[in-house]
Amino acid sequence: MSEPRDEFDAIVVGAGAAGLYMLHRLREMGLTALALETGDGVGGTWFWNRYPGARCDVPSLEYSFGFSEELQQGWEWSEIMPAQSEVLAYLNHVADRFDLRRDIRFETRLSAATYDESARRWRLATDAGDVLSARFCVMATGCLSAPLRPDFEGLDRFEGDVHYTSGWPREGVDLSGRRVGVIGTGSSGVQCIPILAEQADHLYVFQRTPVYTFPADNAPLEPDFQSFVKANYREIRKKQRASDTGVSEHAQGALFSTPTRRLLDLSAVERAAALEDLGFGVVRSFADIRTETAANEIAVEMYREMIRRTIDDPLVAERLCPREHPIGCKRQVVDTDYFITFNRPDVTLIDLREGGIEAITPTGLRTTNGEYEFDVLVLATGFDAMTGALRRIDIRGRHDRTLASKWADGPRAYLGLLSADFPNLFTITGPGSPSVLSNMMHSIEQHVDWIADCIGHMGENGFDEIEPAVDAEDEWVAHVIDEADGTVWTAPSCRSWYLGANVPGKRRIFMPYTGGVKKYRAKCDEVVARDYEGFVFTRSGRTEPAPAGF
Ligand code: NAP
Repeated sequence: MSEPRDEFDAIVVGAGAAGLYMLHRLREMGLTALALETGDGVGGTWFWNRYPGARCDVPSLEYSFGFSEELQQGWEWSEIMPAQSEVLAYLNHVADRFDLRRDIRFETRLSAATYDESARRWRLATDAGDVLSARFCVMATGCLSAPLRPDFEGLDRFEGDVHYTSGWPREGVDLSGRRVGVIGTGSSGVQCIPILAEQADHLYVFQRTPVYTFPADNAPLEPDFQSFVKANYREIRKKQRASDTGVSEHAQGALFSTPTRRLLDLSAVERAAALEDLGFGVVRSFADIRTETAANEIAVEMYREMIRRTIDDPLVAERLCPREHPIGCKRQVVDTDYFITFNRPDVTLIDLREGGIEAITPTGLRTTNGEYEFDVLVLATGFDAMTGALRRIDIRGRHDRTLASKWADGPRAYLGLLSADFPNLFTITGPGSPSVLSNMMHSIEQHVDWIADCIGHMGENGFDEIEPAVDAEDEWVAHVIDEADGTVWTAPSCRSWYLGANVPGKRRIFMPYTGGVKKYRAKCDEVVARDYEGFVFTRSGRTEPAPAGF
């Protein structure tokens, strides 16, 4: 790598929610900081995933930053679950309010980061030709930001348009009068399918695995409720910190009440009554569904019964019935009008369990069972989650060791924050932290605060480098695996992205920390209270000028 032209105290990679807040904290500390962003705007996930129907599944009033009282009081949300456009507008507001754009380099993708052991600095190269250097590198690259591009035979010869939900055109896509094929029925597919059905002439849904989903019950936010939350934000943020998921009990919507009843305690008559009452909501209304196989199996059957009641055509209903994995092993999906969409005469469900995809043809798609013709192909096929974005960058630490090779058998990081042999390279919501199992905004804020405090601590003590001790890292990685072991998340039949099981060739290992945000935060705080137990700091002993602000 050639000599750097730009030197910074810290470089933040990504200008989504994590990158924005990190940049703000670093600048507040008086450090010189730059954020690199691939897109031409801020927002990360909410910048890219603009597909029709894209919506957050955490309540808006909680999916927001708490670090600034003025910010949380000043922003008005319009719905319980915010649409993509509203979250994106909020993040643009954050960027403007804290004047962050002047330190973000847009349309600039980090391609390589190499640790220069003698200078104790990271040297970074971008696709735009920048060569930069920084003492600290903070990866705010997101957990679901590396789209999977399945290698379908013939995809490059398709004569129509191909759109990924994860890169939907900003100007939208006019689907009127066009036949559309969509592959994928995870969160993205489930959200866009009802809207695509309304817009297209005919919609073909190619389903490999049926989904457990239940209605989002989204609605406009009641002004009184918004005022209540704003008046009680201090308490609500405290409750978020004391919860498992980073969402307080004040959140509106069925998704966020913690079930206490047990399905196994109900008689057959009571179960039938519960199904009448809860409908698809049955999948998350009983405490033992996640913990006891017998309860889970009963809930699966109740869920299938709801599908049979909802879907007019019994054959279509059977095709929509999940059979392969228990409820709760994959990320919970919530929807608006998903199942009733399959009663439309202009929607065709193709169950790939009856015959898989052979090839994309110039005019559509061929399965082992038949051919389907359409003009537009929508790929809602997911992401190389949690590690994908980092593995796609050529990151080299001490002894020229690459992060990709170190993580070949699964991610290894202490607290999900730093990895041995990669000094001063922090990861926000990295593998080994609650991240995707929690309200991301909450977990982002916790990580950014921890990293900023750590960098401040290093400045106060004249430390140049921080990295985990190998045994502390090994223990944490083992603990993360132990916590998940034996839970529904690691059921042998589960092929979730939490396990990396959706990516061909990726090592099957559970990546996020299942202990919950309360326990995790306590551990992070305890590590600091014990003088950063498990981390190793080094001083150069050389008389390098301290960075600005130190
Ligand atoms: P996903 O959950 O991984 O779903 C991908 C879908 O594509 C699955 O149905 C998968 O089938 C299918 N698929 C993948 N490769 C395929 C292939 N080669 N042939 C046929 N089908 C294939 O991805 P996602 O829907 O983008 O969601 C990812 C995560 O993003 C979510 O779990 C959630 O955390 C987040 N997200 C959140 C929201 C929200 O806030 N509401 C919305 C969208 C996304 P299999 O199941 O058989 O693998």
